[in-house]
Amino acid sequence: MHALLPDLLGPHNAAQRRALSKAITLIESSRADHRVQAHALLDALLPHTGRSLRLGISGVPGVGKSTFIEALGLYLIGQGQRVAVLAVDPSSSVSGGSILGDKTRMERLSSDERAYIRPSPSRGQLGGVAEKTRETILLCEAAGYGVVIVETVGVGQSETAVHGMTDLFCLLQLPNAGDELQAIKKGVMELADLVLINKADLDPAAATRARAQITAALRLFGWHGEHAPHAGANEAIAPQAGATEAIAPRPPTWQPRVLEFSALSAAQAQPTRAAAQAQPMRNSAHRFDAFWAAVSEFQRVQQANGQWQARRQRQASAWMWALIDAGLKQRFAAHPQVRARLPEVVQQVLADALSPSSAAHQMLALLEPAPPPQAPA
Ligand code: GDP
Repeated sequence: MHALLPDLLGPHNAAQRRALSKAITLIESSRADHRVQAHALLDALLPHTGRSLRLGISGVPGVGKSTFIEALGLYLIGQGQRVAVLAVDPSSSVSGGSILGDKTRMERLSSDERAYIRPSPSRGQLGGVAEKTRETILLCEAAGYGVVIVETVGVGQSETAVHGMTDLFCLLQLPNAGDELQAIKKGVMELADLVLINKADLDPAAATRARAQITAALRLFGWHGEHAPHAGANEAIAPQAGATEAIAPRPPTWQPRVLEFSALSAAQAQPTRAAAQAQPMRNSAHRFDAFWAAVSEFQRVQQANGQWQARRQRQASAWMWALIDAGLKQRFAAHPQVRARLPEVVQQVLADALSPSSAAHQMLALLEPAPPPQAPA
């Protein structure tokens, strides 16, 4: 048994937090012996995982993600939950700097022992960062965190990655986003199960307009979703070499909700909860109740129709295939004959002396074991 396991699965105390931090450091390490230990640990705690609600949160910088997540975390803690906040920050691997996952941004939440906040793993490319975050989700679940929030920024690939590891993907939008319907038509909006028009307090009329526009746009996507085949559980286990993510057309069972919201007002309401209850605010945009009711409804509907489990199966399968893909590429690049031949073959392709397809064929053939020596006649 791994030494960290008893504390990880044990009571919620300082020892558990330490074990969790150590376990995350272990899985973030790229040392070969650490990877072996990490796999053993993950396999051992797998029976204790899967029970959390995995919530993806995204939106452009400045939309209010950290304000929202901190206030949501405090709200959930108030409801008796334990909350982990993880981040997938694609910038940190490129620039060394981080635009997400900065602990000091959520000071109040991070000082609460019922919350666990972990900045984005910073090593390697997005694929590596995503892999570590997936594994960290499992660690947090084993440690009994009932809600795992995974935050990312609105820059394409990282949103796809977070969508591929969460049960519910929530997109934060600014009230003026509805004016840019072109931007909404493609891409990330199609991933959203819930859309929050944040900062509704700044311009309530604009927020209401944006809500109507985005709702209409999402209906359009829903229509496509209904007519596109979606992967069932069986497809999830079929080998799909090259699958790097778990995107399937939206199942027709859920029409994404769009809510007006104010993370700032909700955050300000938190410290004086008693006062807020004594004098309830009429505008539900200032409260988490409406948001959490939508999350709970999504969970109830999707669990009832099997999509909740099917999504997790697709994600687990896509995760495995992505790792096999990456592992094969790594082995290919490290193969001595490939290393010796590759520069010349690349030059031939660039010079139009060799077609890309026969170049690929030749290079892959190098991986095949040499034929057994012919027996003398
Ligand atoms: P992030 O970059 O998406 O994490 O955004 P932050 O949470 O750091 O918020 C950016 C700025 O917007 C901060 O100054 C927040 O106080 C402010 N902000 C966040 N949510 C709201 C909101 O609902 N209403 C208003 N008026 N300001 C907000």
